[in-house]
Amino acid sequence: KYMGVNEVREAFLSFFESKEHLRLQSFPLVPHNDKSLLLINSGMAPMKAFFTGQEIPPSKRVTTCQKCIRTGDIENVGKTARHGTFFEMLGDFSFGDYFKNEIIPWSWEFVTKVLEIPQDKLYVTIYEEDDESGDIWHNMVGVPRERIKKLGKADNFWEHGTGPCGPCTEIYYDRGEQYSCGSPTCDVGCDCDRYMEFWNLVLTQFNAEADGTYTELAQKNVDTGMGLERMATILQGVDSIFDVDTVKSIRDAICLKSNVKYGKNAKTDVSVRVITDHIRSVTMMTADGVLPSNEGRGYVLRRLLRRAARHGRLLGIEEEFLAELSKAVIACSGDAYPELVDKREYIFKILSIEENSFYKTIDKGMDILKSDMDEMKTAGQTTMSGEKAFRLYDTYGFPIDLTKEILEEAGMNVDEEAFVAEMKQQKERARAARGKSTYMGAAETVYHELPVELETKFAGYDVKELTDVK
Ligand code: ATP
Ligand code: MG
Ligand code: MG
Ligand code: MG
Repeated sequence: KYMGVNEVREAFLSFFESKEHLRLQSFPLVPHNDKSLLLINSGMAPMKAFFTGQEIPPSKRVTTCQKCIRTGDIENVGKTARHGTFFEMLGDFSFGDYFKNEIIPWSWEFVTKVLEIPQDKLYVTIYEEDDESGDIWHNMVGVPRERIKKLGKADNFWEHGTGPCGPCTEIYYDRGEQYSCGSPTCDVGCDCDRYMEFWNLVLTQFNAEADGTYTELAQKNVDTGMGLERMATILQGVDSIFDVDTVKSIRDAICLKSNVKYGKNAKTDVSVRVITDHIRSVTMMTADGVLPSNEGRGYVLRRLLRRAARHGRLLGIEEEFLAELSKAVIACSGDAYPELVDKREYIFKILSIEENSFYKTIDKGMDILKSDMDEMKTAGQTTMSGEKAFRLYDTYGFPIDLTKEILEEAGMNVDEEAFVAEMKQQKERARAARGKSTYMGAAETVYHELPVELETKFAGYDVKELTDVK
């Protein structure tokens, strides 16, 4: 059954309302009182305190559609059919209320009755020791045993050090042979796009003790996450999350601007998808008060924006375009996220300043990078020194993954360790001589002159943040 993204969201939230859940608005992308996380990356992340009991939830049953950012997935964006750095996660949560017997049949009811997905396209996975869930799937729901796949701890057990943890059970959709990687072992759980995971049900059943044992929790929780764009991909029968109605409207705006036809050339298609995804991330982050900077989540915003701008150049867009493009994001998601509408002028301003400040130096930097690469070629080197990569970063505003990406296109790479060492040294120098600004330091002062009503706290720079914020 065809359903638009906005309809799927509404269907999910009202389905769980019919099961006595309280519907809450998405929490902001910036975590509140949680230093362990740079940006919200799942529906449960902003509700951790409800799960641990530190805070009392407004209801024992809650349902949300949560804005999520996963920079850890950046390498996949544009390459797989199913990953974005930004996506929306639909979820239902039980804080010591219902458990497996309820959530497993409900999820099946929603998928097969409300969304009308044919059962013969569906598979489920369980944790290998969680026979209880396996029996519920088989006996209560009627899923044939051969469609219930057991996975090990790495895949289907949710655990974070000591504390509440438990098995997961996931639902997959078989998109058919044509999406298979072709490997003889391709099956549910394969990394390719054939069997698409769309819903993960986390069943927090145990407490992991310091001695490595598990005790049964008195208060069991449920935390589920369904990718909205993935579900819409299934319902709309399209190739990827970049083809669903809302996301496609952004993609179309890029094609119009660049005069590039989508689906004609694999290389430009990747650029179109990268921009489509990144403009969603940066628009949402800016609306939630993140400002481009050299640290923490501000740096995540900066890299995504610059990467989008650079892919714009690859498509032949020579002038500023991102603020204009964010209008397409606001148009399709403004109803669900009214903050986009409220802050639209502010969003345009921030994106415009950052994009222009990047262009001021990127051309110069590209020249330097090209001549560095020529030198490397002549010398028969394939690895760029940390020092050179750092100069591009520090003087020309090239985020490291931008440099990496450009080098990779020419079969080269960067000495990342040495780059990180240079970063550290610079941090120390900067600490010793506060006020002496580099190129990007100078750009930052521009933001401080803006009437910024939103306060954001930045986590300190951390190497991990370059690659993953999970
Ligand atoms: P995958 O294995 O496909 O990377 P995941 O196991 O990392 O997904 P979960 O952490 O279980 O994903 O998140 C719950 C749901 O959120 C997934 O089942 C999927 O539908 C959706 N999801 C996860 N990551 C992304 C992403 N990068 N882009 C779009 N949807 C996503
Ligand atoms: Mg993943
Ligand atoms: Mg997975
Ligand atoms: Mg999962």
